[in-house]
Amino acid sequence: MTGLNTVGVLALQGDVREHLAALTACGVRAVPVRRPAELDAVDALVLPGGESTTMSRLLETFELLEPLRRRIADGMPTYGSCAGMILLAREVLDGRPDQRQLGGLDVVVRRNAFGRQVDSFETDLELAGLPDGPVHAVFIRAPWVESAGSGVEVLATVPRRPEAGAAEGRIVAVRQGMVLATAFHPELTGDGRVHRLFCDLVRGAARPTRAVG
Ligand code: GLN
Repeated sequence: MTGLNTVGVLALQGDVREHLAALTACGVRAVPVRRPAELDAVDALVLPGGESTTMSRLLETFELLEPLRRRIADGMPTYGSCAGMILLAREVLDGRPDQRQLGGLDVVVRRNAFGRQVDSFETDLELAGLPDGPVHAVFIRAPWVESAGSGVEVLATVPRRPEAGAAEGRIVAVRQGMVLATAFHPELTGDGRVHRLFCDLVRGAARPTRAVG
């Protein structure tokens, strides 16, 4: 049985449109989420790339921080890309002291980890569980995972390449229960496989269809 799956994209800031398009291509209903009532109406949520400090501030302004923490703690499937990964992390290195965390991922991330002078980095990498070969991963002022708890499944690391430098071997995609995160931006490359992986997770966790009558 497949219920109607509505997947929200947190739409306070960042590359919302690209995620909505990638989700729609997976065959789910994709909607922007800006208010608590809109959050209540979704089965799952994507936290887009953007700027985690700005999103953290806006989450408080829009009174979404606590409701979103609760939904994630209650097992709502959630996918964070880049700034979204930072928001989900238990702890952030090189963050701003006032930046708030949503939790959900037992990882420590380092913000802007690829180096202050390096705005972006691209490489092909294998992602565990994705069929049909490597993903072209685009990193934009991206974090990496410095350390992950034992309950966290590492899905991808930066492969050995001359251009990888200090990023070689760093963890850049993880999953813990219903929470998926990538330091890179699959929504920008037209490769729908990471979103399909997330949508499969969502379908598996679909709320039961309400009984009629
Ligand atoms: N550096 C940004 C931050 O700290 C993340 C960049 C991104 O999402 N592309 O949130």
